[in-house]
Amino acid sequence: MNTPDNPYLLLTPGPLSTSRSVREAMLRDWCTWDDDYNLGVVTPIREELVRLATATSPQDYTCVLMQGSGTFSVEAMIGTAVPRGGRLLVLANGEYGSRLARISRTLAIDTVVHDSGELAPPDLAKLEAALKEEASITHVVCVHNETTTGMLNPLEGIAAVVKRHGRVLLVDSMSAFGGIPLDVAALGIDFLVSSANKCIQGVPGFGFVIARTRLLEECAGRARSLSLDLFDQWRGMEEGRGKWRYTSPTHVVRAFAQAMKELEEEGGVAARHARYTENQRRLVEGMEGLGFRCILPHDLHSPIITGFHDPEDAGYRFRDFYDRLKARGFVIYPGKVTGIASFRIGTIGHVFPADIDRLIRAVGESMHWAK
Ligand SMILES: *Cc1c(COP(=O)(O)O)cnc(C)c1O
Repeated sequence: MNTPDNPYLLLTPGPLSTSRSVREAMLRDWCTWDDDYNLGVVTPIREELVRLATATSPQDYTCVLMQGSGTFSVEAMIGTAVPRGGRLLVLANGEYGSRLARISRTLAIDTVVHDSGELAPPDLAKLEAALKEEASITHVVCVHNETTTGMLNPLEGIAAVVKRHGRVLLVDSMSAFGGIPLDVAALGIDFLVSSANKCIQGVPGFGFVIARTRLLEECAGRARSLSLDLFDQWRGMEEGRGKWRYTSPTHVVRAFAQAMKELEEEGGVAARHARYTENQRRLVEGMEGLGFRCILPHDLHSPIITGFHDPEDAGYRFRDFYDRLKARGFVIYPGKVTGIASFRIGTIGHVFPADIDRLIRAVGESMHWAK
């Protein structure tokens, strides 16, 4: 809901709208040397994230928290998991998949990219052929929900192929984890990354990696960066019982603990997924009722974010539309699909079906180009 201290809802790919109670959890300071913080806040978060990631085999996984926005954790994961002499196959179909490839090349990792284009899911037959023919490929990385378009990539299918060929699987589940049910152990995912301010609905400031403990243990000395060394960060948190190597974003972490509590109170990931799904259903129904068209076919959509074609009317300007919606309490996001004039509306965060109904009314009132 919009309140005087929070004048608009963020219907964007992140940061997202948060609850007032999450923001209020930041109103005190914490000592990072003390058990109050390390054992009382950080350690339970790490344990609960592992349980969220796998109900079947939590004993096989561990969790590392990392300062920075989500990309920092992606870079830490790739730079620590792939050894010298390793080769990484990147499945890309949008901005975030391309970023995985850019990170890998920046770290001087031997990189192969399978880009299926922004409007198509990854080509599983091509993946299968590459893993069969090229023994040099040691690791595969993919995006779970491609936030560029809102496409939900076929994680089960990708994981099945990668596991059949015995490779290590890394997943950027930034905009899906906590909002779309999954079990990393059941799928065979080895490393998965997400951040505080997407579906868990915390505030921005850190990311986290869920890792298969047995594989992370092999990663000593591999990282191409001091501060983004996931192995060292993990050792520090294990030996220091929740201690971060360098200054911890204490207020953000405390807000995240509150966000985790609110996720549980809502009914867990299944309930959150149901809310996001209903948000997105009402969004698409309402927007199509007003004459807008989705970029993706409905069956490729995640409940996370939806891309719409710009109206073709000569009088349409994104900036004017944006400003009119903002004045009515909603902010939306420009599109990023190559060659398609578009905009995006997110349906995650502290946003409810009644908010989407209000949004649709506001969109109807903001279509000045159609009048
Ligand atoms: C948000 C997001 C990221 C990380 O973005 P930051 O701006 O660094 O937090 C990475 N991958 C995906 C799929 C995302 O949606």
